[in-house]
Amino acid sequence: MSDLHPKLQPIFTTVLARNPGEAEFHQAVKEVLDSLAPVVDKRPELIDAAIIERLCEPERQIIFRVPWTDDQGQVHVNRGFRVEFNSALGPYKGGLRFHPSVYLGIIKFLGFEQIFKNALTGLPIGGGKGGSDFDPKGRSDAEIMRFCQSFMTELYRHIGEYRDVPAGDIGVGGREIGYMFGQYKRITNQYESGVLTGKGIGWGGSRARTEATGYGTVFFTRDMLTSRGESLEGKRVVVSGAGNVAIYAVEKAQDLGATVVAVSDSGGYVVDEKGIDLELLKDIKEVQRGRLTDYAAVRKHATHVDNGSIWDVDCDVALPCATQNELDGDGAAALVKNGVTAVAEGANMPCTPEAIKVFQEAGTLFGPGKAANAGGVATSALEMQQNAMRDAWTFEATEERLDQIMSGIHTRCLETAEEFGSPGDYVVGANISGFIQVAEPMMAMGVI
Ligand code: GLU
Repeated sequence: MSDLHPKLQPIFTTVLARNPGEAEFHQAVKEVLDSLAPVVDKRPELIDAAIIERLCEPERQIIFRVPWTDDQGQVHVNRGFRVEFNSALGPYKGGLRFHPSVYLGIIKFLGFEQIFKNALTGLPIGGGKGGSDFDPKGRSDAEIMRFCQSFMTELYRHIGEYRDVPAGDIGVGGREIGYMFGQYKRITNQYESGVLTGKGIGWGGSRARTEATGYGTVFFTRDMLTSRGESLEGKRVVVSGAGNVAIYAVEKAQDLGATVVAVSDSGGYVVDEKGIDLELLKDIKEVQRGRLTDYAAVRKHATHVDNGSIWDVDCDVALPCATQNELDGDGAAALVKNGVTAVAEGANMPCTPEAIKVFQEAGTLFGPGKAANAGGVATSALEMQQNAMRDAWTFEATEERLDQIMSGIHTRCLETAEEFGSPGDYVVGANISGFIQVAEPMMAMGVI
């Protein structure tokens, strides 16, 4: 990462001063500002109109108490968040994360990235994010339901089909969206399908939404490889994580002829040289909500590693699909040493700035999350389209749209990188393209 352009440095200094202690938010802003230097010269009117300063300040930040009672009758208090970051392109759109690490700095980094990611999809969605420091691990269904109901009892007044449309993220899947949708419907006495995405099939959900983030990341990886005359066929792939994004990245990578040899969860990683058994992985993670140690217990030839780094596993393609800053400079150096050719971020900001630098210096194809994992939110926008037209598309039609959207993002990144003097740099391409797509409507709408 270079020093910032003199016109951008004061903006970053203000962000640091105004948002103390929010390290992840600072990191996300810095990464975008690092890419914007060529825009200062080519599009000075956007800089003069303080578009960047406006983008760095959320339009609205909501923080609220979430009290709930556990199965033993004990009362707990968590903190709920919804950061409505930017609505230049459409209603705020972005997921809800339930994880003990959640605090304002995490929600703001996610919300900030969401603005550019959503702009890149070319669909009419603004950027927002929310969640809670609630830890769902080990909680019963009844506890999860009571928590979700309490969370929605405050959130409902801030959201709506034309205002703000939350979805899932870490710790929030179909079950949680169901409980929250039920509570929203009960409080408002309205069947407003378009208020949340990630709903179940049969009550307003879109086919292929569950698969979309992982599939999209693999489509993006395929397109990056194609740009160098390569393909996924026969490649060894490592996927970190074992949640929704990781599982469907494994599925699509294997569909396209790759062998996925490792996945991970918070207890370690598993290496399966015969290729990850997808049905077993789905059963353990989606049905039993179990651990990867259970996978190794069933597949005797697979090894579970409790301590150590999944990035030490030899591979051609690495897909970090777990969480922020999970792949650092050392992990990147290990991957490069083993000859990795492509890395795409299925999670949000999983690579540290040092890791990105290592990949870029080594000439590794690197797809940043804003582009590579945009398939999830893009398919959420397709869910909103289906809700608005009171229709339900087939899996095939939805997946085809997703594939087209991902290819469109890939092309836009490459063309923008070329136009702004950094050919082949997907980070610069994604950041500048996302920025311009949101900056132009902001200019048109005046100082708001
Ligand atoms: N949480 C996902 C993301 O990071 C999806 C958001 C959505 O579908 O609104 O993009």
